Amino acid sequence: MCGERAAEFLNVASGEITHIRPVKRSVDAQGQLAGGAVAPGSFRPGTFHPEPALLEQLQPVGGRREAIIVGAGPAGYFAALELLERGIKPVIFDRGKDVRARRRDLRAIQQFSVVDPDSNYCFGEGGAGAYSDGKLYTRSHKRGTIDKAMRLLVEHGANPDILVDAHPHIGSNKLPGIVANIRETVLRYGGEIHFDSRVTGLVLDKGKVLGVIVNDQDERLAGAVILATGHSARDVYAMLHRQGVRMEAKPFALGVRVEHPQELIDRINTGNLRANRIYRLPATSWWLR
Ligand SMILES: Cc1cc2nc3c(=O)[nH]c(=O)nc-3n(C[C@H](O)[C@H](O)[C@H](O)COP(=O)(O)OP(=O)(O)OC[C@H]3O[C@@H](n4cnc5c(N)ncnc54)[C@H](O)[C@@H]3O)c2cc1C
Repeated sequence: MCGERAAEFLNVASGEITHIRPVKRSVDAQGQLAGGAVAPGSFRPGTFHPEPALLEQLQPVGGRREAIIVGAGPAGYFAALELLERGIKPVIFDRGKDVRARRRDLRAIQQFSVVDPDSNYCFGEGGAGAYSDGKLYTRSHKRGTIDKAMRLLVEHGANPDILVDAHPHIGSNKLPGIVANIRETVLRYGGEIHFDSRVTGLVLDKGKVLGVIVNDQDERLAGAVILATGHSARDVYAMLHRQGVRMEAKPFALGVRVEHPQELIDRINTGNLRANRIYRLPATSWWLR
């Protein structure tokens, strides 16, 4: 059925369609009738070339060119993958622990109200959202397409559905494993990752950044330093200010968490609560129309 539609659309014989790939999938269930929508990507004969896996294109990096990344959150790890792609060795420092060890510190917060200032909900491998459900709803294309980031997540263990779903999410059960897989990639291709390593200063010379100071004692120099320390590291901003680094304020951002009963969200989305049961729709997502 899809093949015939695609052939009609492309004005070719249906036998000539060799690949149909969904490019977007959403459940549009407003009103009385619930239905699914799949937008297929179809290709003229001979024009379809499956994209090679991004990881297959990586080569181990030598130690010749190094860049320091401060922070093993999403920004730090994706920066590391980008550096590997360009043949530059990433050297990552994170004040917290690896994503598995970090879980123990979260338990200490929940059970005993004890907060480790370097390993908590904000700090540690995977960064601030490492234990969230990993919603991937950004619509920002200011810095280009997000397809590559999505493909890298899939290549590190995310469900390929995220490539086509209208409201993709990774799932809190999977997110820590994906973070660990990215760490393995960084190490496999020659990067370095140091946990329990808080960057406490920059090594500066005439306004040029030469490297970082770790845990107030060790100095590490490199060709470039990427600060990927996130929103919560106030001490990093204080350190930059102390060292005379020029900073620019961003517009104020506020996050709000809103919770609603699933039943209400289903009713809003399907327009008819029964539709969910009749058509056996999965739980619908919270989003603003
Ligand atoms: C509870 C929660 C749920 C969220 N859910 C979602 C979601 O579902 N979808 C979504 O898109 N976003 C979500 N977010 C937001 C998302 O987590 C952040 O936008 C994202 O983590 C920012 O990435 P980042 O790498 O810039 O910074 P961060 O994630 O903050 O990472 C910064 C890293 O730097 C390290 N660091 C800080 N200071 C130093 C230092 N001095 N030396 C060494 N290392 C340092 C920290 O340990 C940390 O690992 C959520 C956030 C929270 C808190």
